[in-house]
Amino acid sequence: MKQSDLKGLGFATQAIHGGNDIDGETGAIRRPITMANSYALPYDPTEMNWSSSGGRLYTRNGAANQEYLQEKLALLSGTEDCIVLASGVAALSGLFFSLLNSGDHVIFSGVTYIAAYRLLNELFNTKFQIETSLVDTSDLAAVRAALRPNTKLIHIETPGNPTTAVTDIEAAADIAHAAGAYLSVDNTFASPFNQRPAALGADFVVESLTKYINGHGDALGGAILGRTELIDPIRLQAQVNLGGVISPFNAWLIMRGAATLPLRMQKHNESALEIARFLEETPGVRFAAYPGLPSHPRHETAKKQMSGYGGMIAFALKADHDTHNRFVSRLRVITSAVSLGHDESLIVFLGENDERQYLYPPQFHEGFYRFSVGLEDTNDLIADLKQALSAESLL
Ligand SMILES: *Cc1c(COP(=O)(O)O)cnc(C)c1O
Repeated sequence: MKQSDLKGLGFATQAIHGGNDIDGETGAIRRPITMANSYALPYDPTEMNWSSSGGRLYTRNGAANQEYLQEKLALLSGTEDCIVLASGVAALSGLFFSLLNSGDHVIFSGVTYIAAYRLLNELFNTKFQIETSLVDTSDLAAVRAALRPNTKLIHIETPGNPTTAVTDIEAAADIAHAAGAYLSVDNTFASPFNQRPAALGADFVVESLTKYINGHGDALGGAILGRTELIDPIRLQAQVNLGGVISPFNAWLIMRGAATLPLRMQKHNESALEIARFLEETPGVRFAAYPGLPSHPRHETAKKQMSGYGGMIAFALKADHDTHNRFVSRLRVITSAVSLGHDESLIVFLGENDERQYLYPPQFHEGFYRFSVGLEDTNDLIADLKQALSAESLL
């Protein structure tokens, strides 16, 4: 259907039809994969800007499949514009590299994807003289206290990877804007189905498309979303000059996966809530952290800004390091692997030697699991957890 007719229609309709159209050449009702590096030049190519991000020139400047995906994601996120890149980390580094200059100050969440921590806390500060403050951004007073006259960006992740810490997006946006700074939100754990940060005041939204948006564990991708005036200069730097361009094939795969995002997220939301409740009531479980549980320290904030709580749970057993590893080895349905948001359930044990644990609340200091609840039958997942708990006398 016509893209201009999609505005104002429901999320599921947009997820299916966004970015798709009749193929002009064949009449196929799906747009094709265009595996080409280069596009035909006009009669007089000397008038072209070889570094532009507008128009079709070379796939690193902009190409068909990435444009279709950008259309879909901007629609789902309620933003004017979108850049898709090779990975979530390409999106994070592209955003930071394009936006920040030496002497700028960044406040960022102590609970983030590891690459955000490495980029800001180890690379940008030492290589480019960018000042950084690591803050528990779920504590708004701490965010306010960290502001400096040169604060350019507040970067938060909510729910945060791996602890599920929740930050109030609207309040963080107000703090940033009052100080003349921008707010960027890594929305990967929630996906645009559960949370749309731009509507709450975020200037930049980052998504790892590798996770829920693709949803099938077979492609990497990332996106930066926001207003065109802010996104356009980033497109030039992050895509054309840094070169973190997505393959047309991966863009196509992610486009295909995203069509079922609403159906998949409903199931992730339902299943994870049921499993989080089961874990919380299990005597051998030391704690279960899930934004949908009333026991989560920021449950009220999550309720206010999320329409569902996603598929990510952090939990730990009343057990030592070895028992935590043995428990995982006993699981039959749930796979021990990194990544998240796939169709299959994934679990990873984050040990007590994690270098960032000092930034987390004390219950995370003894080691814990990050559990991505997949789309298998909920009963099979609970039965799998039960048999492994029972074998360790923890049920
Ligand atoms: C995985 C992840 C990223 C990085 O995405 P890649 O596609 O793996 O580069 C960024 N943020 C969060 C919250 C993630 O979970």
